[in-house]
Amino acid sequence: MFWSKSKLIADVVEDKCCNCGKCVEFCRRRALVIAEVQGKTCTFVDDPKRCSGCGNCVRICPVQAIKMVERYC
Ligand code: SF4
Ligand code: SF4
Repeated sequence: MFWSKSKLIADVVEDKCCNCGKCVEFCRRRALVIAEVQGKTCTFVDDPKRCSGCGNCVRICPVQAIKMVERYC
């Protein structure tokens, strides 16, 4: 349904991310989520198929914690 032909996908660098939630709110495709993983709050691309590779979340992140990487699936 949301499958993208882009070869890129957003990737959150965990060490830099402060889990502010801006990217989650911003992404129109709802590709990003904040969730508890093994007792730790994390922000990540939950459904790779939803990410179009637009790169807009990279620009909105206040701490430059998102990079675009080659699509892994
Ligand atoms: S905008 Fe940046 S710092 Fe905030 S949750 Fe997203 S990746 Fe993390
Ligand atoms: S690259 Fe675009 S579609 Fe993918 S997570 Fe970021 S804002 Fe959403």
